[in-house]
Amino acid sequence: MAASDFSHLIAAAADTIALHAEELTALDQAIGDGDHGLNMKRGFEAVRAETDAIAAKPLPDALKALGTKLVMTVGGASGPLFGTLFMTLGKELPPVPDRAALASALGKAIEAVSARGKSQPGQKTMLDVLQPVYEALAQGKTASEIVDAADHAAEATVPMKALRGRASFLGQRSIGHMDAGARSTALLVRAVAEAIEGS
Ligand code: ADP
Ligand code: MG
Repeated sequence: MAASDFSHLIAAAADTIALHAEELTALDQAIGDGDHGLNMKRGFEAVRAETDAIAAKPLPDALKALGTKLVMTVGGASGPLFGTLFMTLGKELPPVPDRAALASALGKAIEAVSARGKSQPGQKTMLDVLQPVYEALAQGKTASEIVDAADHAAEATVPMKALRGRASFLGQRSIGHMDAGARSTALLVRAVAEAIEGS
């Protein structure tokens, strides 16, 4: 991937998080502690500030640097988890990946997030969006189908009962609200898919 393309990915990701920070915070206020929007915005703005240095690296190293930056700046439970996601993608992807390599790396990254969070899909977290995105990617779905799958999966967390993260402290009362991390993951999937499609 050319440096300019990775710069666009960073800008697209940071823009969508900035644009939706209040919404993410409101979601986290309902069943968490209301910091998810701020956490993610702080992290992605820190990444944006280092766009040139990050985008100059080969794709695997750029993803590792991005993930490391997120671990250092996002905070909360989600910082190490999003960091693990991107660092593992960096570890697993070749410099010029095709779709099969992307699907396989995402599968490994999901396993790493799952190990780090001691969590599985079905527990009302970001994994409930990542897993269907992986499946859509592996099944050869189009970018717009993958984006739809991510949005649908985030919506599908509304009736779920949280079994991991702060929302799990609420038990039954976590039902009826979308998971903030699922929503931010869906936003990132859309941003990345649209940036890749448009490039
Ligand atoms: P905190 O919960 O520490 O306030 P954030 O508000 O930034 O951190 O992030 C909360 C989000 O992190 C949740 O909405 C959920 O998607 C995700 N999350 C929390 N714990 C886990 C976990 N153990 N496994 C996977 N995702 C998790
Ligand atoms: Mg929170």
